[in-house]
Amino acid sequence: MRERRLIIAIDGPSGAGKGTVARTIAERLGYRHVDTGAMYRAVAWLAGVVGLDLQDADAVAGLASTAALDVNGSILINGHDVTQAIRTPEIDRSAAIVARHSKVRAVLVQRQRAYGEAGGIVMEGRDIGSVVFPQADVKVYLDATPEERARRRAHDTSRPATPQDNTAVVAQELAARDSSDRTRPVSPLTRTDDAVYIDTTGLAIDDVVASVLTVIQTKL
Ligand code: C5P
Repeated sequence: MRERRLIIAIDGPSGAGKGTVARTIAERLGYRHVDTGAMYRAVAWLAGVVGLDLQDADAVAGLASTAALDVNGSILINGHDVTQAIRTPEIDRSAAIVARHSKVRAVLVQRQRAYGEAGGIVMEGRDIGSVVFPQADVKVYLDATPEERARRRAHDTSRPATPQDNTAVVAQELAARDSSDRTRPVSPLTRTDDAVYIDTTGLAIDDVVASVLTVIQTKL
């Protein structure tokens, strides 16, 4: 019998290890990996380039619904490869602003559901298990202490180095963004009761991947 192609939801705050874990699991299973944070980042980047007011929910949602987005590996929006450009402190802030608008979320959630409807997907974000795929086969919530998450973020090699790259400054920015993501009225970052909780503080990535794969095996 063919194995089922599952929907795997990985949620958690920034720096909890979602990206590496989700990408590795997708590679191991031959599944598609979708980083939904990159979608909010790409929309925020384009809104900045065309000069929209980020607080204007209708304008940003309109842009999100008409933009051509490609999130297979490199991140492309309207043909611009923004893989690097969206990993800056400025886009950290602007993505968190556009993600607060329910109209923007509705547009991106619809696209996320379309990516995952056939299964065989590992999707990471903040609201995947709670809103995008409440029926996901596997839900994982990755966490780590604020200190550990700031340390990882400060040493993240996928981000261009900036003068503000010391752990104390990163920790402050991370705390501000966490608070925005956890307290926003629409789809705040929350841990659902049916998600497997893993505190990745002090754990090697391989160990986290192994734990998640063990959970997945029970569903295949
Ligand atoms: O995960 P990442 O830090 O790249 O996400 C950027 C921003 O996008 C987050 O701060 C959050 O506000 C938003 N986001 C979201 N829902 C998701 C993924 C990301 O609101 N599913």
